[in-house]
Amino acid sequence: MRFSGKVAIVTGGAGGVGKALVRKLTGEGAAVMVADVSAEGCQSLTKDIEAAGGAMKFIVGDLREKTYCERVVAETVEHFGGVDVLVNNAGIIPRGTILETSDDMWHTALDVNLTAMFYLCRAAIPPMKARGGGAIVNTSSVWGVYPGPQHVAYCTSKGAVASFTKSLGRDHAPDGIRVNAVCPHEINTPMLRSGFERRGLDPDQAVAELNKTVPLGHIAEPEEIADVIAFLASSESRYIAGETVEVTGAKPVA
Ligand code: NAD
Repeated sequence: MRFSGKVAIVTGGAGGVGKALVRKLTGEGAAVMVADVSAEGCQSLTKDIEAAGGAMKFIVGDLREKTYCERVVAETVEHFGGVDVLVNNAGIIPRGTILETSDDMWHTALDVNLTAMFYLCRAAIPPMKARGGGAIVNTSSVWGVYPGPQHVAYCTSKGAVASFTKSLGRDHAPDGIRVNAVCPHEINTPMLRSGFERRGLDPDQAVAELNKTVPLGHIAEPEEIADVIAFLASSESRYIAGETVEVTGAKPVA
C-alpha cells in the first residue's frame, strides 16, 4: 500500500496506460482524480474501481483548455484535501512528416502533449509544496529522445516534455517535489492499435509481428508502463528526480 493516504491526479485515465495506472494507484490506497475527455471511459472505469473498493472521482474535459486544467487541480484539492501525485499521462499521436502536418495537427499535438502539462504542473506545485512535497510523472516517449520516422509533431512535443521534465526536476527538487518522465517504446493500447486499424491491418496480428522486434519478446502491456510510473510516483524512487526513464524492452529506435 505505497499510496495509502495519498491523493493523485491522472490525466488520460480512461485510456490504455491510464486505466492500468488508476487501478494500480487505487489498489495501493490512493484517492485518484481522473481527467479525461471521454465521459464514457471515465464512467466505466469508476464502476470498476468502486467495485474493487477504490476511491476515484473524475472530471470530464479537454486538456487543451487552460481553465479545465486549473479546475482539475482546484477540484482535487477541494474534494480530497490536497494533491501528492500528478501523472501527466494523456497524449495524442498525429502522424506524418512536416509536409503532411497541418497547422491544426501541430498545435493540437503541442497543446495536448505539452501545454496541458504546463498548466497542470503550474497549478499543482503550490498545493504539493503546502503538503511538504510530492511527485510528478510526465509521459514522454522514446520517440521524444530518439525521434522515429514520420511523426514530426508527436516527436517534437514528446522531446519538449523531456526538457520540461528536467527543468522542473531541477527547480523543484528543493521543494521536495520530484519530477520525472517515463519514455516508453510501443505499448499495446488503443493508441497503437487504432493506428494499425487505420492502415487496414488486423491489430492482433500486427502486435504479434511487432512483438518479434523486441529483445524482451513483446511490446509493453499497459500494466508494465503503469508499474514504472507508480514506482516513480512512490517513495521507493525517492532519490530519482529530473530524469527521463526509458522503458523499451531493450528495443532500439529504428
Ligand atoms: P490512449 O489513446 O489509450 O489513451 C490516451 C487517453 O488520453 C485517452 O483516454 C484520451 O481520451 C485521453 N485524451 C486525449 N486527448 C485528450 C484531451 N484533449 N483532453 C483530455 N483527455 C484526452 O493512449 P496510451 O497509449 O494509453 O497513451 C498514454 C501515454 O503514453 C500518451 O502520452 C502517449 O503519447 C504515451 N505513449 C504511448 C505509446 C504507445 O505505443 N501506446 C508509446 C509511447 C508513449
